[in-house]
Amino acid sequence: METGRKEDYLEALDSIIEKKGYAQVRDISKLLKVGPSSVTEMFQKLTKAGYINYEKYGGVTLTPKGRKIAKETKKKHDMLFHFLMILGINEKIADEDACKIEHDLNPKTLDRLTKFVEFIEKKEEIPRWLEHFNYFFETGDYIECNPSNDDKCPVHGIRKKRKKVNK
Ligand code: MN
Repeated sequence: METGRKEDYLEALDSIIEKKGYAQVRDISKLLKVGPSSVTEMFQKLTKAGYINYEKYGGVTLTPKGRKIAKETKKKHDMLFHFLMILGINEKIADEDACKIEHDLNPKTLDRLTKFVEFIEKKEEIPRWLEHFNYFFETGDYIECNPSNDDKCPVHGIRKKRKKVNK
């Protein structure tokens, strides 16, 4: 059983179980966009490996071991999603790519990225250098991050002028 696939299933199972208490083949089939026979096959593997339990009403729930992996994967997913959003990637792509990257990163990389996202989100407004980066992305022009030089700054200088116009 491939690790990434296993983690995606457990993550999907957890999100459905949180809503309705258990998950059925059709829920996962819809969410992960895979055929019901593949889901059934994966459910059997996950049961055998001790990640899920079959319930009498035809649904499955997570074992503690399965839930642990689901929560860890979700945490990585959310962090990577935020990281990609910070970089300016749109929501849909950020979500899809977070799901691809989440399985293969070294814990050291994860730790550093987590702290990076936390650091950026400490402040409510977008950091100046990140606004400069967005400008760089769009125009290719690099702006030195220097508040005393704001008048000449095409990002922050223009914004100041705009504020004045609004008054
Ligand atoms: Mn994934």
